[in-house]
Amino acid sequence: MKKNPVDRRTFLKRSILTGAGAVIAPSILAESKNLNSPSSENKTIIKRKLGKTGIELPIVSFGVMRADSPALVQAAVKEGILLFDTAHGYQRGKNEEMLGEVFKNSPRDSFVLATKVEPEGTDRQTGLPGPNVSAKPFLEKLDISLTRLKMDYVDILYAHSLMAKEAVLHPEIILALTTAKKEGKAKHIGLSVHRNEPAVIRAAIESGVYEVILTSYNFKQDHILEVKKAVAEAAKAGIGIVAMKTMAGGFHDKARTQPINCKAALKFVLQDENVTTAIPGNTTFDQLAMNASVNYDLALTMEEKMDLAKGESQGGLYCQGCKQCVPDCKKNLPIPDLMRAYMYTYGYRDNVQAYDLLNTLSVSSNPCSGCTDCTVVCAKNFNVTERIADVARLSSVPAEFIS
Ligand code: SF4
Ligand code: SF4
Repeated sequence: MKKNPVDRRTFLKRSILTGAGAVIAPSILAESKNLNSPSSENKTIIKRKLGKTGIELPIVSFGVMRADSPALVQAAVKEGILLFDTAHGYQRGKNEEMLGEVFKNSPRDSFVLATKVEPEGTDRQTGLPGPNVSAKPFLEKLDISLTRLKMDYVDILYAHSLMAKEAVLHPEIILALTTAKKEGKAKHIGLSVHRNEPAVIRAAIESGVYEVILTSYNFKQDHILEVKKAVAEAAKAGIGIVAMKTMAGGFHDKARTQPINCKAALKFVLQDENVTTAIPGNTTFDQLAMNASVNYDLALTMEEKMDLAKGESQGGLYCQGCKQCVPDCKKNLPIPDLMRAYMYTYGYRDNVQAYDLLNTLSVSSNPCSGCTDCTVVCAKNFNVTERIADVARLSSVPAEFIS
């Protein structure tokens, strides 16, 4: 996944900003397309079809990962949001349980529920499936999820966090998903991808199996042009596209003094009409109201354009998973995953998610110990050594103190 700043710059120039701003930030100032952008007076929710699934969704959905408030989910329902996205591992199962409570008395066709199960046995660094990948534990986890959710089926079941073509096409992973569908436990099946998105998306198209793809997609990705192209190919093949990580970590800095303009970042992704919907996370009613307002109006204001232009060049907290750093690490550390844990802690303030991720990585609480003269160069200029030290120490904290 090579960085291609010229193409990216050209793309952003054409897709984000108006010519009037060119004086301010030449790299991303160009004309705004205002796709599907009714005036702010318009009170009709913008909806799009989720590929060939037949499901029609508002362009803004709800990534529930960090939410623990039933009232917030109920407020989202009142806002007209239909799709609620969780995962087997979020909040160690409490997230699915919370959604099960909220929806237990709702007509089953009044909401769309997506969950994710991560196949066991794939390599964290390469994403390659090992010899022990099996449908059985995947399906057992799905059964646990359905019990927590108090549902007979989920509308979308994703194989979570696939990173390599070999995983996407692996017979056991496909068997797990297709079995769940045949048994009526999943209406539609898909995959989620955090890195190596173009290759994973194209493998999903090749397979003919996956109906929905949940992909990272945001204005900070150096490879956004390739992501956009692959998304267009998938949409053309009838696959529904759901965007995540649209906020790119939420903040530009560890101290959280420089917030990303999340509304602008969300609008930017949704201006790509091949994206059916996005799943921004909400932990407050204000965030929910802000994100839900994008359902009515996709037009970027000049202020939002300037914020995106300014933020494009800042390093931020979001690791784009490009893996350019990996070959340079003397200890072959899983740097992209460590950086994701860092974002969970400092961007999302979600120590549980960071802690659980760290526990899957088999690293110590001081992974760089004994290594002097770091040879790693990050494509986003992160101080990788410092960030690893900051986040990895979390793994030495007893589990009962993590909240
Ligand atoms: S200091 Fe850490 S990140 Fe840098 S090369 Fe050594 S082990 Fe890898
Ligand atoms: S740490 Fe930097 S170089 Fe490594 S994967 Fe993340 S963005 Fe790319």
